[in-house]
Amino acid sequence: SIVINNLHKSFGTKTVLDHVGLEVEDGEFICLLGPSGCGKSTLLRSIAGLESPEGGTIYLGDDAVFDDKAGINKTPEQRKLGMVFQSFALWPHKSVFENVAYPLKRAKVSKSEIRERVREALIMVDLWEHRDAYPGTLSGGQQQRVALARAVVPRPRLLLLDEPLSSLDTNLRAQMRREIRRIQQHLGATAVYVTHDKEDAGGLADRVLVLQDGKIVQQGAPRDVFVAPKTAFVAEFVGFDN
Ligand code: ATP
Ligand code: MG
Repeated sequence: SIVINNLHKSFGTKTVLDHVGLEVEDGEFICLLGPSGCGKSTLLRSIAGLESPEGGTIYLGDDAVFDDKAGINKTPEQRKLGMVFQSFALWPHKSVFENVAYPLKRAKVSKSEIRERVREALIMVDLWEHRDAYPGTLSGGQQQRVALARAVVPRPRLLLLDEPLSSLDTNLRAQMRREIRRIQQHLGATAVYVTHDKEDAGGLADRVLVLQDGKIVQQGAPRDVFVAPKTAFVAEFVGFDN
């Protein structure tokens, strides 16, 4: 589970996370939905340990990973999660295989097990044939799928995904959505998925949370949020007439 209380963060005078509170149950798949600049990536990166918020607490299961008052701020590695970044963040000088193998190598997994698990992950994203290619020679969509394979290969309990389908075409997006849900269920993982795409949120989420200026302004089952937006902002962002 994830439990966040009173999390705040600003850049200069701009408040980016405005005392955010959030609870995600084990195995739940939530989508953070909102326009560009509303703080989605900052919230996700804070959960991952890649941003230092000014205050608040973050618990992952029973583990306090961030608590400003107690002076706790665990490293990303200590938080044991898988993340797909908005910019894929692949190693350009490593092959597809090496990119996906990297987290397992760091975790000192045996060579034979690395080979087996990387193979399984690359087959899952349909890239096993491209295992020896370098990221620079792949399309944006293929690179995104490498990043997805790399995030899931350590079998994390918590999966953080930042616009992982943004450079895919419509057909591939639909297919990858199903894959992501399948992988998440297979891992039994809790997932936080960031997007500004209503279709992504509707097709994936158990629960959608709409973010406006660093605040969660509405949350609920996708249908409920889409059919009954509570504010003009939410209506404009998710309503059927746009
Ligand atoms: P997008 O959909 O465009 O990715 P987002 O919702 O993910 O947007 P964030 O990346 O969380 O938005 O950024 C929220 C706000 O914080 C933006 O106004 C952004 O300019 C600002 N911001 C983010 N990172 C920094 C930084 N390192 N320094 C200064 N400002 C930043
Ligand atoms: Mg972002």
